[in-house]
Amino acid sequence: MKVHCPDCKNIAELSDDFSFVRCTSCSLNMTYGEYVKHIAYKDPRYRDILSDYKH
Ligand SMILES: [Zn+2]
Repeated sequence: MKVHCPDCKNIAELSDDFSFVRCTSCSLNMTYGEYVKHIAYKDPRYRDILSDYKH
């Protein structure tokens, strides 16, 4: 599944089981949980998503 890379704004790949996100345009390589926190940190508009992401 294609997602936006928060670092370089290119297309990153989210694995089918939502376990990790990788971007081939930069060195982004993190778990989905880390990715959600990362985009929330980069862009306050995504903080609503983070509030729904609680384990
Ligand atoms: Zn990237």
